[in-house]
Amino acid sequence: MTAGQSFQKLPYPVTTCCSFTAKLLANGHTYEWRIRATNIAGASGYSNTVSARPMPPFPSAPSGLTATAKSRGVALTWTASSTPNVWYLIYQRDVTTGQSWQKLPYPVTTCCSFSGDLLINGHTYEWKIAATNLSGVSGFSNTVRARPMPPAPKAPSGLFSSAGVNRVMLNWWRNDDVPEPVDAWYNIYYRNVSDGQTSWTKYPASILGNSFTFYDYLTPLRAYEFRVSVQNLSGEAFATTIRQEIPYRPVPYTNGPKRGKNTTNGSNVLALGYALNNRLQCRGDWFQTICYGKPPPTKLGRSQSMTVGDYLFYISGPESLEEELVCEVQQRLILRRRYDAATAADKGPDLLWHEQVHSMQWNRYDNWQTFVGLYLADPDRFESEANLYWGGYRVYPGASRC
Ligand SMILES: [Zn+2]
Repeated sequence: MTAGQSFQKLPYPVTTCCSFTAKLLANGHTYEWRIRATNIAGASGYSNTVSARPMPPFPSAPSGLTATAKSRGVALTWTASSTPNVWYLIYQRDVTTGQSWQKLPYPVTTCCSFSGDLLINGHTYEWKIAATNLSGVSGFSNTVRARPMPPAPKAPSGLFSSAGVNRVMLNWWRNDDVPEPVDAWYNIYYRNVSDGQTSWTKYPASILGNSFTFYDYLTPLRAYEFRVSVQNLSGEAFATTIRQEIPYRPVPYTNGPKRGKNTTNGSNVLALGYALNNRLQCRGDWFQTICYGKPPPTKLGRSQSMTVGDYLFYISGPESLEEELVCEVQQRLILRRRYDAATAADKGPDLLWHEQVHSMQWNRYDNWQTFVGLYLADPDRFESEANLYWGGYRVYPGASRC
């Protein structure tokens, strides 16, 4: 009757009285029956009409539910309900966000597995299932819990670097899993090897691209080592390459000579006059003014960088000085590694400190002519005081001249 069918006479008459069992009916459909008696003389009229709706047994709950997490998904398996011909309803909730139970929109019509996706890696989920048929929904299975996670990240490779004024530029090759994004980010680690740091410091921000310019935390004219890692929820993988760079120092323009006697003993006037006469480019540095390109001639026979009062006359241009300062950092680092920090500080080249000692020497005398006379009579006395290693007169074993 559910299907709108007209009365059908069953093919075999019932020869005994007074019962009959109908089979092969569709559960959930409403049927009507009526009977009549028959013999050779003919058929009687119909009995009253009765109706009934065959239904399946109420389903028993499935059991043995298991969950195996994968990236962004889960695989569920279970033991079938003891009731045949049931479908399974899957309930899921995101425990991490405190979500309530959600019934997935489509029942599973086969037994006994299900593959779920569109999950968020790193969140913990719970699942439970129930069997259903026309008679209703069973109780729930056991509840299982799992946390989808991405695959372990693959280390980046090929770290490259270059140094600039107060900065170091880094870039590397991605090695992520493609095409599926893995929610990975990069970490930069650094350490100051000029100051003897052995442990790595992690830059306090995650980097999403494959390049980074380091402005903060770096002291100019120190050698730094850098390394990079990729990280996701499943772990962290380091590139094998470690790079070393020395950020240049910015050249200050504001501070000039500041030693009192060099102003009164005539040495600064002498130096400034020479710079003006030769149209030298001069810049204030921290403790001296540095003039580039043409040091005053000496009577020692060779042209070299030279300090007069608070003025350092550097033998070539500003770029060369910056390169020499970077070279000095490298040489001091070599000495630090081969000997120790004290040796590096005392025996490594350090031209600016050497020349500042000379400024202090000029500053001792009331007349610049007095210092010049004493210096020419015994240059070694003054050069030794200014540290022959710093001035490049001597090179300690293992290092080389800049
Ligand atoms: Zn000197």
